Amino acid sequence: MAKDYYSVLGVSKTATDQDIKKAYRKLALQYHPDKNTGDKESEAKFKEVNEAYEVLSDKQKRSTYDQFGSAGPGFGGSGFGGAQGFGAQGFDFSSFNGGAGGFADIFETFFGGGGSGQRRGAKRGPQAGDDIEFELKLTFEEAAFGVEKELSVTKFVSCSRCHATGAEPGSKSITCKTCGGTGEVRVIRQTLFGQMASVNPCGECYGEGRVHEQKCTICNGSTRVRKTEKIRVKIPAGVDNDSTVRLNGKGEDGRFGGPAGDLYVHIRVAPSKVFVRNGYDVHSEVHVHMLQAVLGGAVNVQTLKGDMELKVPAGTQSGRVFKLKELGIEKLRSSGLGDHYVKVIVDIPMKVSRKEKDLYDQLAKEAGLETKGKDGLFSKFMGN
Ligand SMILES: [Zn+2]
Ligand SMILES: [Zn+2]
Repeated sequence: MAKDYYSVLGVSKTATDQDIKKAYRKLALQYHPDKNTGDKESEAKFKEVNEAYEVLSDKQKRSTYDQFGSAGPGFGGSGFGGAQGFGAQGFDFSSFNGGAGGFADIFETFFGGGGSGQRRGAKRGPQAGDDIEFELKLTFEEAAFGVEKELSVTKFVSCSRCHATGAEPGSKSITCKTCGGTGEVRVIRQTLFGQMASVNPCGECYGEGRVHEQKCTICNGSTRVRKTEKIRVKIPAGVDNDSTVRLNGKGEDGRFGGPAGDLYVHIRVAPSKVFVRNGYDVHSEVHVHMLQAVLGGAVNVQTLKGDMELKVPAGTQSGRVFKLKELGIEKLRSSGLGDHYVKVIVDIPMKVSRKEKDLYDQLAKEAGLETKGKDGLFSKFMGN
């Protein structure tokens, strides 16, 4: 189910938060179910618009979406949980509570403020933990050879004091005072579209009718606490810049029995001073003295496996490339290695001694070359 949230809202990929809010406000009013009673198409459209806004109005979700699309982490088919059950019993507001503020504040505008102040909680069910994104910087060599790293990840984890129940150890379960044990609250709101009444699950007891007499003193009943954890991750040899390693279940812990999210480690590889990478091949340059290029010789070449001697045959031209077979990078998820390509740069001496000059003169004479230059021509060309 590939959705383009940007086109749903009719904005560009570079739209500002303000643009997105504006577009959403207009569409939400247009397709609001109270204005289009019984119109299935508007309902679907309204749902779609809300889903798009939920993602694009949240910095984190938007950047994940930009990277992975709606098939990415956290955008499963049921990404917009609150929209379920909508239609049958009218509009379900529960999703607006959990949001990062954007939703609440827009609907505050639509419906003229908080009204009863009653918190409209969702019925409590297993809640999956969020995925986490982590950026890991590697050196060129670490990426080439693989490395084990310890990441410091700050995330929500299950509270150990209450074993993720939210209850202070030893405290009793009592009838919820807010709903009198029914698990439901009735809410009447004045809206732009008239009076709206709805029966919602009690936000205090999550529709269960009973609450813990005393909330856990560590997590305050939320079942989770924020904690920085050390997570070891093995980066396989051959990873490249911009690749992502996924660690299943290493994201935030879920709540009420929900599964943990995943940890996405985005790899950033620093460039090397020596090597340039192209797939699993590496490229480098080696400087060779003019005389070695003419006469042939051996030069030292830095490779991923250490220094090697490269034999340069007599008459080697500047720019010639030599292939060092299987001295490249280990292939990821397959066997074998890339190759190393070395480009020879022939250096011409900038300064020569008097004796060297005499010898070069002799060589030039032998080769029948004119070395004194015609008067003025050279200096005119070069402007000095
Ligand atoms: Zn606790
Ligand atoms: Zn209650």
